[in-house]
Amino acid sequence: MMLSFDNTERAFAHKSNLDLAKAYRLFQTFSYPFLVSQGPKLANFALILGLPIKGIIKKTIFHQFCGGESIAESASSAKELYENGIGAILDYSVEGEGSPEDFKDTYEELVRVINESANKPEYPFAVFKCTGISDFSSLEKKSNQEELSETESREYVVFKERLRSLCELASVKKTKLLIDAEETWIQKAIDDGAYENMSIFNRDEAVVYNTVQLYRKGRIEEIANQIKVARDQGYKLGFKLVRGAYMEKETARASELGYKNPIQDSKEDTDRDYDAALQLCFDNKDVVSIMAGTHNETSSYKLAQLLEENNIDKSDDRFWFAQLYGMSDHISFNLAHAGFNVAKYLPYGPVKEVLPYLSRRAQENSSVKGQAGRELSLINDEIKRRKSK
Ligand SMILES: Cc1cc2nc3c(=O)[nH]c(=O)nc-3n(C[C@H](O)[C@H](O)[C@H](O)COP(=O)(O)OP(=O)(O)OC[C@H]3O[C@@H](n4cnc5c(N)ncnc54)[C@H](O)[C@@H]3O)c2cc1C
Repeated sequence: MMLSFDNTERAFAHKSNLDLAKAYRLFQTFSYPFLVSQGPKLANFALILGLPIKGIIKKTIFHQFCGGESIAESASSAKELYENGIGAILDYSVEGEGSPEDFKDTYEELVRVINESANKPEYPFAVFKCTGISDFSSLEKKSNQEELSETESREYVVFKERLRSLCELASVKKTKLLIDAEETWIQKAIDDGAYENMSIFNRDEAVVYNTVQLYRKGRIEEIANQIKVARDQGYKLGFKLVRGAYMEKETARASELGYKNPIQDSKEDTDRDYDAALQLCFDNKDVVSIMAGTHNETSSYKLAQLLEENNIDKSDDRFWFAQLYGMSDHISFNLAHAGFNVAKYLPYGPVKEVLPYLSRRAQENSSVKGQAGRELSLINDEIKRRKSK
């Protein structure tokens, strides 16, 4: 196949020399464990004290991984992506304290995101996390089929209403809506809500997408089961397939509470199931739409290959690739150039509120062997290529 992720000229065409040098320095700093572990805490403290560091954060790590502090401020990053054939998924990345007011504020912001995304090809999807609009403990109790207190029950009803109205709005506005996956001990309640809404709003095509984490054991059976139910009841499924982001937390909790770790025994097992899930969904494409949410080159090739070998139009709306803004541009930009549907999560929110998100990106990029090493060497290749011209 002609597709290659090696073309750094294409991957970084949207970055000036200065931007590339800044990105290189940033990814290099992620190799200092002290900065990665303490940086966000110090930054938060400094912001609370009113020290003038917001500008520095905004020009560095925030600039790399976020679109802006608001939807309006993120528009120029979305435009730049769109000019390169890539959609943006506005991701309101504020992690509140978890009060009913926070849930209401986040819900209202999500309504704005869906309205903003409506009829705009530059925003093909909207996204949210259920913990942004619901109390964590009621999702946990619901997942365990435990009794909710009176207050929790009332709030849970509000959560379900808001979930329903977000899905309905997405359906009316013709914006596809992704529901992120979270910790296993709250996921059952999220899944139930997602499939319930799919059965209502995905009658003709996938509008609501649920996320499946293939680092969990037994997810292939779960996907197969959902396909059977959707076929029987006559609705379409949207699946965002990811490996999963909470591995350490899951493993630590399972060991602390003494239950069997729900995470696969090895990275190879996760990789095997991820690619098997792509295949299974592809084989059932008459009812399933797929988003491959991954920075893994092999899995991205796999889906691209499936489409090419089966003569499926690359712009068929049932197949999407997605990466996070500021990461794996070599995958996103080369896939888009080859004509595939690609979108990037574009996180946004006030600098102070998105620090936890930025902290996770720093941690994820801190192992020089892994993602950071790859980003650094790609940026380095492109800097060298430009110098040698
Ligand atoms: C667009 C997009 C949306 C996302 N949405 C979500 C979401 O809703 N929920 C969510 O949880 N995550 C989400 N993620 C994050 C995702 O789950 C992964 O953490 C991240 O993308 C890294 O995995 P990878 O497929 O890119 O590839 P790789 O870098 O090849 O894989 C790394 C992943 O493999 C798994 N892994 C690593 N070591 C082991 C091991 N020893 N045993 C078993 N498994 C192992 C872990 O999941 C790890 O994150 C999203 C990512 C993207 C790009």
